[in-house]
Amino acid sequence: MRSKTEYLEFNTKNKIEFILITHEIEKIIAKSEIKEGIILINPMHITTAVIVNDNESGLLSDFRRTLERLVPYNEKYSHNIGEDNAAAHIWRQFIGHQVVMAITNGKLDLGPWEQIFYCEFDGQRRKRVLVKIIGE
Ligand code: ZN
Repeated sequence: MRSKTEYLEFNTKNKIEFILITHEIEKIIAKSEIKEGIILINPMHITTAVIVNDNESGLLSDFRRTLERLVPYNEKYSHNIGEDNAAAHIWRQFIGHQVVMAITNGKLDLGPWEQIFYCEFDGQRRKRVLVKIIGE
């Protein structure tokens, strides 16, 4: 068995962003030369997430609008003592915080509409995403 570990870095312009990262992940898989395996993509910060869904701008704004409706960003939260990011922590859990995908024949084995997104919910600071591949 072989493995490869890399880190993607982000420092978003806005507090909340959805960033398409499929191509970066495909590049890491190609570099790894692993043909059959599993890839874990884990945002290493507790106010961010990685999701797999449709790359359609209306849907991405629907995600944001739904999260804002369920967990308003500027409401009063117990966590927000010296911090203001309780909603971002909760959004990460609601949307699912990390993904594991398959590598088949040296390629990310995505469904027809599946794309990978980095979701930033408390941005404007440096963040990292762990990408770990195991396989052969
Ligand atoms: Zn916090």
